[in-house]
Amino acid sequence: MSQQEGAGTRTTGLFVNPVGQRRAQFQHACAGLFDELRVADGAEAAALQLAAQPAGLLVLDLDRFDLAIDLPALGQLVAGRAGQPVLALCPFTNARWLPALMAFGPLEYAIGPLSPEETRSYLHARLQNGFTPAPAVSPAEAELAALLAVRSGAQQALAEADDTIRFGERLCAALLGWPGVVHAAMFQLRGGGDLRLEAQHGQHQGAAGLDLAQVLQRGERLLQSPLRHAFPGLLAAASGEMALLDAPEKAGEPELAQALGAHGVRMVLGLPIPASGPGAPRGALCLLFDHARPFSRAQLTAFDDLAQLAAFGLRMAELMRESEQLLGRVTHLATTDALTGVANRRHGEYLMELEIKRARRYRLPLALVAFDIDRFRNVNDTYGHPVGDMALRTVADTARALLRANDVLVRSGGEEFQVIAPHTSAIDGLKLAEKLRAAIEQAEIPGCDHVTVSLGVAQLGETESGDSLAVRVNAALVRAKRAGRNCVELAMQ
Ligand code: GH3
Ligand code: MG
Ligand code: MG
Repeated sequence: MSQQEGAGTRTTGLFVNPVGQRRAQFQHACAGLFDELRVADGAEAAALQLAAQPAGLLVLDLDRFDLAIDLPALGQLVAGRAGQPVLALCPFTNARWLPALMAFGPLEYAIGPLSPEETRSYLHARLQNGFTPAPAVSPAEAELAALLAVRSGAQQALAEADDTIRFGERLCAALLGWPGVVHAAMFQLRGGGDLRLEAQHGQHQGAAGLDLAQVLQRGERLLQSPLRHAFPGLLAAASGEMALLDAPEKAGEPELAQALGAHGVRMVLGLPIPASGPGAPRGALCLLFDHARPFSRAQLTAFDDLAQLAAFGLRMAELMRESEQLLGRVTHLATTDALTGVANRRHGEYLMELEIKRARRYRLPLALVAFDIDRFRNVNDTYGHPVGDMALRTVADTARALLRANDVLVRSGGEEFQVIAPHTSAIDGLKLAEKLRAAIEQAEIPGCDHVTVSLGVAQLGETESGDSLAVRVNAALVRAKRAGRNCVELAMQ
């Protein structure tokens, strides 16, 4: 040590960085500022050193550390300081280190890059003035931190906005972080003017066991509740105005006041969740506090922001639901035959492939039945196309009514159908085909005579493709036609 500086405030130091050259540079530049300066190449080595001998100042040089990997261990070093100063040298390119490390404990920081000389003079000045020990957090700061945490929790709840109830629960859980809040609830207006208690969350202490549905004597049709003029959550949803009851007795409902009081609730805030356009609110948030307290303008504005965020989440959930419904409708249109409501040919081919895979995987038999209406051209010619259509629908309905839940009925062409029958052998397929034949022959068709069908049956071979199965079953169907129609033929292997 060449120089002795800042004699009155000298201390010991531990410098942590994974790169040997940086440690050497720091030592070279700054060792003179300390009584003793030690170095460590990582959090683990630093922890060992600190355990053996504490250091007055811990210097974490974050350059070359990896936030994703090293944060927990470096964070533990910060957490273990118990009021002893920590200086983080943070590269300007990754300031995310700062809030991440501060979550573990207080620290001071200097933004790099700093040359060894700059580091030295910075440290010199700071050591002269003394590093501030962990500052006591003021109540105002603590409150600000709590409110910011509420907001960030509420924003994170938006990630769950594909489901209203989960979103509501996450939001209410976040709202519990608001100082003094012992219970948070979300009401939502559903179709037909039904206001429901969608989600609620209570603090484990204080309002333990508080079930708002019990206090309000119901969880739905709440706009019809006699308490809608008294309970701020309902009031806000009904009127669209913020409602603040700083003493439950003021609402003039002694029973309600008593129920709230029994759970230690001294103040109730109702916040309307605004609708996207004009009109009734989408619902309300309701916060129960364990003491009455005045709010600042900033706090009241923050409440409004949270209600706005709730509106956003509910709107997102609604959009998500709508788009799912739309997708369902589009999928239905793309996979269903419009005339008969059974699977269309393309979807049938897709389902066939799925069933073939399943049959192979579980070594189960799979049968395919194909049938075609006999002399259908005559039906159209005699009774007209609309009656022909009716006959097609009747045949499809008759077949569908006979099938098991796992069987798939497909309209494979004009007046041709297929049944994909999982877990079905050739013998069972023949029985099924015969049942179909007999039922269709009997079916009443408004406006025309009975129709009959000819059927082919095939069981999937061990290594057979879907195409080959279709060829064989159609050949069997052709043989049934040749054999005089209204009969069943089994496919050749
Ligand atoms: P086969 O016993 O040999 O099957 O005789 P077929 O008359 O049924 O045979 P063909 O295949 O020659 O005739 C099928 C008829 O089915 C012709 C066509 O007009 C009719 N068709 C196909 N699709 C529809 C439809 O959607 N509606 C109506 N009404 N008729 C249809
Ligand atoms: Mg036909
Ligand atoms: Mg045909």
